[in-house]
Amino acid sequence: MELFFLGTGSGVPSKERNVSSLVLRMLEERGTTWVFDCGEGTQQQILNTTIRPRRIEAIFITHLHGDHIYGLPGLLSSRSFQGGESPVTVYGPRGLKEYIDISLRLSGTHLRYPLYVEEVEEGLLFEDKQFIVEAVRLEHGLESFGYLLKEKDQLGELLPSKLQELGIQPGPLYQQIKSRPETELEDGRIIQRNDVTGPPKKGRKVAILGDTRCLPELAGTLKDFDVLVHEATFAGDQEEMAFNYFHSTVKQAASLAKEAGVRELILNHISSRYQGKAVQQLLDEAREIFPNTTISKDFYQHYISRNH
Ligand SMILES: [Zn+2]
Ligand SMILES: [Zn+2]
Repeated sequence: MELFFLGTGSGVPSKERNVSSLVLRMLEERGTTWVFDCGEGTQQQILNTTIRPRRIEAIFITHLHGDHIYGLPGLLSSRSFQGGESPVTVYGPRGLKEYIDISLRLSGTHLRYPLYVEEVEEGLLFEDKQFIVEAVRLEHGLESFGYLLKEKDQLGELLPSKLQELGIQPGPLYQQIKSRPETELEDGRIIQRNDVTGPPKKGRKVAILGDTRCLPELAGTLKDFDVLVHEATFAGDQEEMAFNYFHSTVKQAASLAKEAGVRELILNHISSRYQGKAVQQLLDEAREIFPNTTISKDFYQHYISRNH
């Protein structure tokens, strides 16, 4: 599971940073990718990576500001040209359906795959055997959401040494034992799965927030998350500006990460006023409060390890 940042700037593209988009790649876990926001030029950024639009399964839009959605109709359309046939679901705030419908209809775009658009409310978006995904309401000029991805715990690995101690040789029986809480052997013995597997693999928790004033009250919700992706449009001394423009400072984001006790903080949505040394300063400011901070840049890849 890996985050791939495609656009990490705020508002308008700059030479250093494109506007917002990032991808969660889960090729091993799920064989698919999820996209978060899709600013203008996202397709062009994707061309410089090994990301395949065919593999996109879901797109989560945090809010409808242009720097987060102007690339969406183009990406949906190109995916069709590029042979994408599997369904895609786009999640996002109210108005998203109208935006997509009108863009595709007026441009005469006909997709060759099923497209579902779900306008979200705060709370559970979906749950399947791998993930629970929830939306949390943020505070921005437009309705804005954060997405909370909670991977479910997985069974531990079978321990061959234990099985062999019990005289069970490798074969199809191994799979059977792994798939049920208990298995009766031909000789009548009952094998408890827990006795022959290692500790369960803990699911990872990732929060990807849209543009927002920093909300310290989210600390509880984000408690013990592995990764928090938070906007940091302004430097630490710009709190008033941040408040007036419905954004956050690096220090505020770092304080939230600390308060919530997340494992890692990744900052994005960096204003183009900060370049070179100024970005290093932002990082220093954040690390003073929360040492495990990274400032993302375009094409930054972040592997999300399991916390054992
Ligand atoms: Zn933005
Ligand atoms: Zn915005």
